[in-house]
Amino acid sequence: MEDINFSNNSKEKILGKIEKAKIYAFSVDLYKSLQDKIFQYSKKIDEEQLGEKMTNYYKSEIKKFEKIIENSSAHFDTLFDFKIALESLNIKKENVNDILAHENAHANKLEQLGGKHGGYEIIFLKTEKGFSIIPRNCSFYPKEWSEEKYIDVVKQVVKAPDEYGNSMSPDDIDKLNYLEGLKKK
Ligand SMILES: [Zn+2]
Repeated sequence: MEDINFSNNSKEKILGKIEKAKIYAFSVDLYKSLQDKIFQYSKKIDEEQLGEKMTNYYKSEIKKFEKIIENSSAHFDTLFDFKIALESLNIKKENVNDILAHENAHANKLEQLGGKHGGYEIIFLKTEKGFSIIPRNCSFYPKEWSEEKYIDVVKQVVKAPDEYGNSMSPDDIDKLNYLEGLKKK
């Protein structure tokens, strides 16, 4: 048995997080439109001279959208818990390994470049057949970094799965396109 140090209590906790996230799961279309809005509003904040009032407005909207996504997500502090969670979802073993390698590549790159990794998440989306999932990392960047440095590091983190022999996800490609399309202020 590989789960020798793993109590049933922890597994129950993991399953509980998944059940809770599923309650708030929403459609793939809504997810796409929330992501689009987050990109659009971030771009406005990054590129336009909006003034304090409008900047705060767009920031609070982004927070609202992120909260909706967060509610339909289950958060795991460790790669181990993340693995148990994925395994409980009837995902093929090779796909679980693929997801772990992919997210681990992002996380390693982030820490290598001085960011802070804050665990793993599974976003649950509702489909006709049940649920689909989007795995992702929680990343934190030092506040003192310049915008240029931040963007450079995020790009490298997004591209990391390619570098480590996995491949970027459609979401990663969207994010990279967004970052590369940003006009310099
Ligand atoms: Zn990715």
